[in-house]
Amino acid sequence: MTVIGLDDTDSRSEGMCTTYLASRLAARIEAADGRVDRRLLIRLNPAVAHKTRGNAALALHTDLPAAEAVEFACEEIDTLAIGTDARTSPGFVVAPGDPTAIPDAVSDFARRALREQLDLSTAIGLADDAGYSHRGWAGEGCAVRGRGRIGALAAVGAWHAFDEWTTEHIAYREFDRCGTPRAVDETAVFDAAASAYPTVWDTVDRGAGETVCVPNAPGPILFGIRGDDSAAVERVAADIAAADTTEPVDCSATFLTNQGTDHHLTAGRIGALREGRSYRVDGVVSEPPETRRGGHVFFTLENPETAAAVACVAFEPTKRFRDHVRAFRVGDRLTVCGEHTDGTIKLEKFAVRSLVRTERVTPTCPDCGRRMKSAGRDQGYRCRDCSTVGKDKVPRQVERALEIGWYEVPPSARRHIAKPLVRGGFDAPSHRER
Ligand code: ATP
Repeated sequence: MTVIGLDDTDSRSEGMCTTYLASRLAARIEAADGRVDRRLLIRLNPAVAHKTRGNAALALHTDLPAAEAVEFACEEIDTLAIGTDARTSPGFVVAPGDPTAIPDAVSDFARRALREQLDLSTAIGLADDAGYSHRGWAGEGCAVRGRGRIGALAAVGAWHAFDEWTTEHIAYREFDRCGTPRAVDETAVFDAAASAYPTVWDTVDRGAGETVCVPNAPGPILFGIRGDDSAAVERVAADIAAADTTEPVDCSATFLTNQGTDHHLTAGRIGALREGRSYRVDGVVSEPPETRRGGHVFFTLENPETAAAVACVAFEPTKRFRDHVRAFRVGDRLTVCGEHTDGTIKLEKFAVRSLVRTERVTPTCPDCGRRMKSAGRDQGYRCRDCSTVGKDKVPRQVERALEIGWYEVPPSARRHIAKPLVRGGFDAPSHRER
């Protein structure tokens, strides 16, 4: 067996997609009578600055001898990778042997690649120690050659490192249509999505009436169907492809992925959060939500034991999720999840642990029912008309729009690696978006 890891072949402006390059490489292997047993689509640390979009890396598990795998990978990257973008830094790593017999140092690297910022020199050192072949390229003007070897090595280690897998079936466009508007039958997408939910998830955003499975970026993907079961995602994809107004599907592939797993999150503590990592953090709302320019909603969360605080934000594209965030009150206890960068947690989901149910208000007069006035500093309250007095503010019930449990961003704003609530396994009731 041979494992081929690939990464960083595409460009935000020029298109391409490493999943497509991996699919072409797989087709090439099969045309040479090789077998491709598995295709992995691995999402890495979403906080990495130089990612193109979703920080994906790819691995193929094949029976092709390593030397041929190297030759084929070089040819496909030479032909397809974008060479004109200074941000594109393609690379591959080829590991001879069984994908489960990966050295611990490499599978550990794969786990860290989801949560930390790693160096190219570390990746190259590990690949050399393990006796792997690797090669790097650099887009025009790119100062780093073969940064993609970080993701490629992580993809090589992934099968050994992780034990929870979801699936995505990707349908590709005819190549000369790339860059033109995509034609995908919306009714077929909504019908197929409904027929397979919740095994198949994040195909559409029902609340917004949007087809989430059809990307906007330039590039060869027509649509991608995600879920827990390969047969189910393939069925949904076939229904969409069969619709009259869907453009022809050129080729397609099913990947095993770590999408929808939350494997990027680690337990964190406010006051000890590091930049460029994603956390699950407990705290108490200490400053109320405020909607700022652009529609982003900010609030402050505090560690009640240390009084350390962190800013949290629900960005504008999270749309209706922001209404839940706007409903927070100072004193609410939460668990929040998201990436921590620039000292701010970018919310992906949160759990309400307890809600403030009362507030202290000026007392009303028991005789006339009107609100009392302050009788002076530390002198309590008085009714000007009836002369009745009240010592302190009194508790009043507040209506809350939130309930205990987990809330999430809608499918249209979901990060690839974030776990949709519908997948289950959460420690409180789920208020799902679909
Ligand atoms: P797309 O989703 O469109 O395929 P992308 O978002 O995957 O693109 P890439 O073009 O692959 O983005 O760029 C990501 C780069 O970051 C790659 O070079 C990859 O090796 C590197 N990288 C991935 N994870 C880490 C990490 N944890 N630390 C440092 N670099 C990383």
